[in-house]
Amino acid sequence: MSVQPPYPELDEIITQIGEAGRRLSEIEATEGAAGNISAYLGWPLDPRSKFPIQEEIELPEEVPELAGGVILLTGSGRRLREIQDNPMGSLGAVVVNEDGRTAHLYTSPHCLFERLTTELNSHLSIHRDAISRSSTNFHAVVHAQPLHLTYLSHIPHYQDEATLNRHILRWQPEIIVNLPEGIGYVPFLVPGSSELMTATEAALRAHRVVLWAKHGVISRSDRSVKRASDRIEYAETGARYEYLNMLNDEKGEGLTAEEIRSICRAFDIQQDIF
Ligand SMILES: [Zn+2]
Repeated sequence: MSVQPPYPELDEIITQIGEAGRRLSEIEATEGAAGNISAYLGWPLDPRSKFPIQEEIELPEEVPELAGGVILLTGSGRRLREIQDNPMGSLGAVVVNEDGRTAHLYTSPHCLFERLTTELNSHLSIHRDAISRSSTNFHAVVHAQPLHLTYLSHIPHYQDEATLNRHILRWQPEIIVNLPEGIGYVPFLVPGSSELMTATEAALRAHRVVLWAKHGVISRSDRSVKRASDRIEYAETGARYEYLNMLNDEKGEGLTAEEIRSICRAFDIQQDIF
């Protein structure tokens, strides 16, 4: 996938980030200032029309592959639910220099944050990996902390990728269609650490959404920011059914493996979970 001309304006992507932030808040995945969103735009754009204040920053990761593109990112401490009402206060635009180690950060006079998201290293490394492995010129990354998915990751029974997926993906026909690679599982690692960054990059090669044990989820899309947040919503819906079923003495049977395979045959979905 790549975005074709006429390319979307900065405003359209900013609006999408705001809508995704609002929706993630509605599903209770963004308490306080939890969660962060970024989007890499690899077509000619001048961020200064929206973000006229410029400063040079050091990047936590060397990402020369992203040089020249514009990366919109949420600021540390900003609330995802408030982006829609105050996008200029919540977002910054990063343009990576050719050396890959430094960048220009563009912000608005209305900027309400001091630093970019604390998960900046993961966002940058996931974008770098996607951009260098495909021909896409767009890539969105969303991190949120949905209650039920995160809760399940605290239960040892679900701390295994195959078990987790067979339980979560069985509750609605759409879930396997939208998450045919299932949900990746990364055991607990310290937020913002290079270990978490490396494990996430690897897990997101095989999956579109990855569960960070005892923390939350991270998803990506090469089509739109909202598609990345939709993936979180599908995964969280499956986890919510699973949680309901746990409370109800496991009375629900869920779609059987054969029923899911028949959905996959009908919709030509390749999967190896069921
Ligand atoms: Zn988090």
